[in-house]
Amino acid sequence: MSIYVTKTFLPPYEEYCRLLTKIWDTSVVTNQGPYVHELEQKIQKLLNLEHFQYVGNGTVALQLALSALDIHDGEIITTPFSYVATTGSILWERCTPVFADIEPDNFTIDTAGIEGLLTPETRAILAVHVFGYACNTEEIEKIAKRHNLKVIYDGAHAFASKYNGKSLLSFGDITTCSFHATKLFHTVEGGACITKDRAIADVIDLQKRFGQKKEEQLMLGINAKQSEFHAAMGLVNLNYLSQNIAARKHICELYDSRLDGILGRPAEQKNLEYNYAYYPVLFKSEKDLLGTFELLNKHDIYPRRYFHPSLNTLPYLKTRCSCPISEDICSRIACLPLYTGLKDEEVKKICSLIHKYHSKN
Ligand SMILES: *Cc1c(COP(=O)(O)O)cnc(C)c1O
Repeated sequence: MSIYVTKTFLPPYEEYCRLLTKIWDTSVVTNQGPYVHELEQKIQKLLNLEHFQYVGNGTVALQLALSALDIHDGEIITTPFSYVATTGSILWERCTPVFADIEPDNFTIDTAGIEGLLTPETRAILAVHVFGYACNTEEIEKIAKRHNLKVIYDGAHAFASKYNGKSLLSFGDITTCSFHATKLFHTVEGGACITKDRAIADVIDLQKRFGQKKEEQLMLGINAKQSEFHAAMGLVNLNYLSQNIAARKHICELYDSRLDGILGRPAEQKNLEYNYAYYPVLFKSEKDLLGTFELLNKHDIYPRRYFHPSLNTLPYLKTRCSCPISEDICSRIACLPLYTGLKDEEVKKICSLIHKYHSKN
């Protein structure tokens, strides 16, 4: 059996079907139905969040975040080390991404580089808690206050990570999340906008359903609603969250002990309760990464280059800038397979193949 970087967690079939019965009873399939409402309430309570808006996916969540903060043009300071959706949503909202380089030890935005990039056009900072590691939220908040900027966090990897005792989704003006099938907690497709500000939450709530309330057209909106089928998957998967995190923690610790420090790893963060969303490793060079991949692929094992390329080098950007640290890290970072159901024997095999390549090169 092939081993990929991730495998979607599916709960017991009967448990999901049990929730579908109610959908068949009522014929309510979408439009802010009871399961969507229940999921919003449950996650809000579980993570102690003030306002949680469940939406179609993590990309439209970023678009809604920009639009709810009334950002429709200008420059957004962001990180080049993320999935393409982070930069893509900025461009899609007709704003200009301006890239600050990243911290070499945990791959989040390097706050020391932010102020030098500010112009009168700068509207916001969009940072990413990449792999579930926390950005320097204290410093970002200070910079934002000093220059009157909005702060958005892409928390697509941050579900269930805690920083200074609080959910990592609770920082900034808005934090977004993704519940795509590849993420730690998923609803097949799905995402969210989280905010402490009631007025912002109300705008997102309206904008995600065409800006329409009852029969009244209140503002420009889009369709970013989520269905009862997706919410039902989320409700069932929530019951398995701690179990899944424990399974991932076990695998990460097995990697740690077996790899024995031959590959680079992000620095441990004080004050972070980690969610074990990913297991990123840094090779010494791109050549080592490719060589190791070749060997693993021969054994039907497929880690992934997360993230590659550095987003400041996207071919459709209008202006070029250089981010040497991100470009270097992107050239030699990968995520190893990590999912509920990955067996100890498989982890050990992956580690011994990595050792095998390492000892010959
Ligand atoms: C997955 C992901 C997204 C996009 O989420 P979707 O739900 O797939 O639209 C955005 N940002 C990051 C960092 C991601 O990993």
